[in-house]
Amino acid sequence: MLENIYEKLALEYEKKRDTAQHQAENRLKKVYALSPEIEAVDNALSTSGIRYMKEYRLAKDKKQALENYKKEISDLNQKRADLLSQLGLPADHTEVKYECPLCSDTGFTDGVSCKCRNKKLTDYYYDISNLKNTLKQQSFKTFDINIFSNEKTDPDSPTPRENMEKIRYKVIEAIGVADRVPMNFLFYGNSGTGKTFLCSCIAGEFINMEKSVVYLSAYDITEIMLSYRFNKDETDYSQTQIRLMKECDLLIIDDLGTESTNSAANSELFNIINSRLNSEKSTIISTNLSAGDIMKRYSERIASRILGLYKAHKFIGNDIRLHGRA
Ligand SMILES: [Zn+2]
Repeated sequence: MLENIYEKLALEYEKKRDTAQHQAENRLKKVYALSPEIEAVDNALSTSGIRYMKEYRLAKDKKQALENYKKEISDLNQKRADLLSQLGLPADHTEVKYECPLCSDTGFTDGVSCKCRNKKLTDYYYDISNLKNTLKQQSFKTFDINIFSNEKTDPDSPTPRENMEKIRYKVIEAIGVADRVPMNFLFYGNSGTGKTFLCSCIAGEFINMEKSVVYLSAYDITEIMLSYRFNKDETDYSQTQIRLMKECDLLIIDDLGTESTNSAANSELFNIINSRLNSEKSTIISTNLSAGDIMKRYSERIASRILGLYKAHKFIGNDIRLHGRA
């Protein structure tokens, strides 16, 4: 499904072009039926090039021949427009009208993905990312650092605001090179300290770069995997979800620690995490668990990967949601 979006879009654009061309042909047919004169003008236009080449070869005054030719074309076009206007139709009535005039419904302008195609990709990625509507609106542009308190909760630590400022800086830096260096972050700390908020901002940033994002809780991830493995839920939907979890550009595993603790769930989670590390895909894990909790709760192979290979950032402060500001 992930790579199929490109095929899907290519087909969609092909259809659009076909439709636009077909509609133009129909309009032309109707116009010819109403006005045989216009058909005659079109015939004259389509044969004018050949006539001109003959005349040009024989002409003594080549410059004059070219001028004559240009005048003939312009007169024919004017006549055509006049005839259409007599029918109450605009001069471009029989031209192909593409939905996107920038790319003529090819999806590309000068070999670069057109605005209209980028929009479709972005919508698609939002669709599959599982991002809630409210989360969609969060971005680094609307990021208000002032919702984080500037009072120390611990004399040896920075204030929540200073801490968030530092994490935000690191994150933006990592996003800048995410194409070359996968970003693997572990965000840990109490509820309401801004982990989900920051994850949403990062997701939005990736989506704006036309990258695929999947945002799921650890609970959902293990449920999907277990149901696939044990209930033989091999529908297209579940297979697609699993592929997306493994192959998307950014996977956000929310609320690590809320999934069941049995060894099957553990091993499915390991599969996803490991497969993404091997294929160098970015993953962010957010959790209320501390490093000690992670070591206690997970098998050594999961804990060592998470604690050893992810850049850990501790979120501090009181629950900002309780103050009604996030
Ligand atoms: Zn376009």
